[in-house]
Amino acid sequence: MEDKERQILEDLVFCAHEMEREGLIIGSVGNISARIDEKTFYISSHSSYLGRVTETEFVKVNLLGEKIEESNLDPSSELWMHVEIYRARPDIGAIVHTHSPYASAYAVLKRPLKPVNPESTYKLGEMPIVSYFPSGTREFARAVANSLKPNINVALLERHGVVTVGKTVHEALNYAELVEEIARINYLVDTLSR
Ligand SMILES: [Zn+2]
Repeated sequence: MEDKERQILEDLVFCAHEMEREGLIIGSVGNISARIDEKTFYISSHSSYLGRVTETEFVKVNLLGEKIEESNLDPSSELWMHVEIYRARPDIGAIVHTHSPYASAYAVLKRPLKPVNPESTYKLGEMPIVSYFPSGTREFARAVANSLKPNINVALLERHGVVTVGKTVHEALNYAELVEEIARINYLVDTLSR
């Protein structure tokens, strides 16, 4: 394995563990991927618990959703969402999907997050809310990919959660952290102003 691929796997493992440590996911939910080159990427497996995932639990796939390396693990059930996003966004290198509770609650209500501080507003920009489709389907995957227009890095998924994209997996994770922070502040603002 090349050094570059080893580094990608190391970053994926680090960020996956952070996702659970920070309360963005719990147990076997959520998924994470990073591009190796224009046509291939590593994605967490269907059975992975991200909080304790290891480098051997990532599956190498192409942009047709096919496994391209021998593995007895299946890719995440949200494989198509990752495939469609990488196809639509050649500029991004990583995708993080969480069910972080505060942002997910706003997504359930389809209530847009208000800008609450200058840094996050500047970094996150517009955050579209994708209407509900059953997860794992191509319709869902296309709707998410369509919402992530150039320069949009965060989408809220109605009755589901959050997806973020970045040039690196660290950047995508940072967007996932920021959107949850903004959602928590929105919740406090909404509660206190009642
Ligand atoms: Zn999910």
